[in-house]
Amino acid sequence: MKFASTRGGGAPTSLDVALAAGLAPDGGLYVPGHIPELALQHAGATLADTATAVLAPWFTESELRPSLADLCTNAFDFPAPLRPLPSPNNHLLELFHGPTAAFKDYAARFLAGCLSRLRDPAATSPTTILVATSGDTGAAVGAAFHRRDGFRVAILYPDGRVSPRQAHGLGCFGDNVSAYRVDGSFDDCQHMVKQALTDTDLRTRVPLGSANSISLGRLLPQTAYYAHAALEFRTRHGVPLNFIIPTGNLGNALACWLAKRMGLPIGGIVLASNANDVLPRYFNGDDYAPHATIATLANAMDVGAPSNFERLRWWHRDDAELRASMRAYSVDDATIRGTIRQATDRHGVVPCPHTATGLHVLEQLRAAGDIRPWAVVATAHPAKFETIVEPLVGHAIEPPPALAAALARPATSAPLDADGTALRSALLQE
Ligand SMILES: *Cc1c(COP(=O)(O)O)cnc(C)c1O
Repeated sequence: MKFASTRGGGAPTSLDVALAAGLAPDGGLYVPGHIPELALQHAGATLADTATAVLAPWFTESELRPSLADLCTNAFDFPAPLRPLPSPNNHLLELFHGPTAAFKDYAARFLAGCLSRLRDPAATSPTTILVATSGDTGAAVGAAFHRRDGFRVAILYPDGRVSPRQAHGLGCFGDNVSAYRVDGSFDDCQHMVKQALTDTDLRTRVPLGSANSISLGRLLPQTAYYAHAALEFRTRHGVPLNFIIPTGNLGNALACWLAKRMGLPIGGIVLASNANDVLPRYFNGDDYAPHATIATLANAMDVGAPSNFERLRWWHRDDAELRASMRAYSVDDATIRGTIRQATDRHGVVPCPHTATGLHVLEQLRAAGDIRPWAVVATAHPAKFETIVEPLVGHAIEPPPALAAALARPATSAPLDADGTALRSALLQE
């Protein structure tokens, strides 16, 4: 299978080249030549087994094909349980049992495994993975590459716009992972990373790589937990499972859509956005109109220009067909607060602010008479956002063990001006 750019530039290339490059040379996103159909009837014995089966068609010509099962065993070594909620047909797909307590751990670990194996063994200088983060990506990528031979990581996050625990989680790695707190927004961080990645002079002096959610190595592995949950669900109940997905850059939801197109038993896909409502507006019929990011309680979804939209659009003939593929709702901060406050009574769980947007959308669907089985995707553990969640629920939230261990380590970060020159000199000094 070959992979081409959404912008049509350059010749189609192999998966391995696309994985290593991240972004296509013309600035587009890599998309596969076709979407393979899977005839899977049942989930594997483990999530890693399902992942191996679901990812295999993409890797047929890859140098990584013989290692795929190992890559999946290492990346998918913590569960993604589908927890039934008290009301019939309501479920939570818990994706926060990894080292940094957010769903991005799965894909970051898979991508790190791929890049390690693809690295030229004769290369002398380490590759620096640049990552702009609104909180969770940086931690997941830092954890995935921490102490990995041949790699360094530079994490850029917007100072003051991530939760205190998120900030700690970004700065607690040390060794080959550096955290920079940027005097600017997430969009500034993303722009600085893009600028560095296209700076050919810098790249000859400091080998750079990327791990943002536009990378195929992030997108493809995220199909695995949707496949696993949907297959197990159909085996047990005989019907497809529908998903509500808290959405920012559209990477996680796009993976769900991809899994559906591959033939997995997935019904409806609904996006839950925060006040950054570019997707809800589009799916409700407005033009696609990216805007400057608005800061919200669900900060990992504070995205005004969802980068994976370019892929989603590429895969559809026109706006009408695309709008028919999923729906999207916007949930404001007051509603997020109210949902967290009432979630214990209504759903028997304490959600993080991102997951709360999904729970609220579920409540809306139920109020409108929808009786289908829905799974809300729980994208992070609430203990990561304790300064928001604890006052609303009135008690402390125990961090899961991996998060507790990270919080017990000291954390440091370096200040960085929000401009490309500052990043350039920091990278040249490392
Ligand atoms: C990254 C993230 C999201 C948004 O996921 P996208 O793939 O960017 O749409 C939602 N919730 C949490 C907790 C996240 O870390």
